[in-house]
Amino acid sequence: MSLRLYNTLSRQVEEFAPLREGRVSLYTCGPTIYNYAHIGNFRTFLFEDLLRRWLEASGYDVFHIMNLTDVDDRTIATAREKGVSLRQHVDPFAKAFEEDRDWLRILPAHEQPRATEYIPAMIRLIEALMQRGVAYLGEDGSVYFSIARFPAYGRLSRLDLRELKTGASERVSSDEYAKEDARDFVLWKAAKPEDEAVGASWDAPFGRGRPGWHIECSAMALELLQQRLGVDVLDIHAGGVDLIFPHHEDEIAQSCAYTGKEQFARYWVHGEFLNIRGEKMSKRFGNITTARDLREDGVDPGAVRLLMFQTHYRQKLDLTDEGLAASQRASSRLGEFQKRLTGATAEADPPRLSQAAARLRADAAMALDDDLNAPRALAAVFTFMNQANAALDAGERSGPETISAWQWIEGVLGVTSRGLSVSLPTGSSEADKKSSDLSTFAETPPVGSSEELEKGWALHWAVQRKQAKTTRNYAEADRIRGFLRTAGWEVRDGKDGSVEVVRIPRAS
Ligand SMILES: [Zn+2]
Repeated sequence: MSLRLYNTLSRQVEEFAPLREGRVSLYTCGPTIYNYAHIGNFRTFLFEDLLRRWLEASGYDVFHIMNLTDVDDRTIATAREKGVSLRQHVDPFAKAFEEDRDWLRILPAHEQPRATEYIPAMIRLIEALMQRGVAYLGEDGSVYFSIARFPAYGRLSRLDLRELKTGASERVSSDEYAKEDARDFVLWKAAKPEDEAVGASWDAPFGRGRPGWHIECSAMALELLQQRLGVDVLDIHAGGVDLIFPHHEDEIAQSCAYTGKEQFARYWVHGEFLNIRGEKMSKRFGNITTARDLREDGVDPGAVRLLMFQTHYRQKLDLTDEGLAASQRASSRLGEFQKRLTGATAEADPPRLSQAAARLRADAAMALDDDLNAPRALAAVFTFMNQANAALDAGERSGPETISAWQWIEGVLGVTSRGLSVSLPTGSSEADKKSSDLSTFAETPPVGSSEELEKGWALHWAVQRKQAKTTRNYAEADRIRGFLRTAGWEVRDGKDGSVEVVRIPRAS
């Protein structure tokens, strides 16, 4: 069994084989850093993270590039609104993106090029396209790509070529446009005063200006591919379905017209939309939820990954409060299970656990090889948890096979709650044993316990309270805060999602 992926180019699930054995080049379109990335963007980045992790777990050496769009129509417009330079405007959002990415356990790309750092490569690419006669300088001073000169135009998005509008009178200079507006698109935009005002203009042989959005990805991908691997065709190019047209169609046109190759990427993989409470997420509906909104709400990153991976990446996903709450509970259960599984271990695996581990490996691998079927891989994880729990209940202890199978799948999915785990202080062995079983915690502190042990008790309830808040069970959260106060403990929620408990000073 080996990986099969749905290729948007062929509209079919295909056997995956890279150009060079054992090596995979992967390009994923990164965020436009004009604002905080919303959770819909992160659904795409999470499915790409799953793809990368699964390729690596399958033994491939992956070279991953993810760009940051730091100059385009939107970054310039928002910098102007704020009255700051482009650089001043985008830098904090680049940093925020990296924080959100790390919080969601998304592996950083090996190369994270920023468009403004690759202007010379873009200029070279545009010059070459002009020399080949597929790009021309318009009378407005901008450079356009002539789609009539590239017969393969429209293949990815299955555009009807007869309906394409071509020629100088029919062209588009904005970064985003609809399929009905397919026409000559802009590669280089002549400098305007508003671009100059924010420092978004560069000199070029064909006139001062700035790159169009689409040329950025082509130039950065080709430059890094040639530099690092000595090739000019990608194995996999991934992104959200909204990028198929025009962005990826235009990337193909520019890149292939330049390299003369039939393909820019051999596999085009696209993730579906995320809806929020039934509506397509967009600014128009005012229902943007950012990753940091979720983090500030105390949602666990493992729960976000779990929620995303419970739906196949090619299906639409509706984000609801109920769905998030259920994922939060399931992720916590996995976290508790992980502690239990790895807590007390044996030298060798008992047969029952060894069989469960082998089945987990086989079922999860089969699921992920089948066009990244994460929902089925997760089902295998929960089956394993139930089987292993039954074995642990019977007094069996996990050995190396069981633990490595667990670490292997958790290393690919990363859905287990870790952030809210409570490390309990060491007390007497009997008290320890009792306190490590979180479900037996009473709502009053353990009688005659040490200050440390009591703090462990309070922390346990502070975590329960945080989870209650996350699931919007405010009555329960208030109740827990109440009895913690009675016992002399105050709860504090950290901005980074952590919880803390402190002693309320006693009145003397
Ligand atoms: Zn792109």
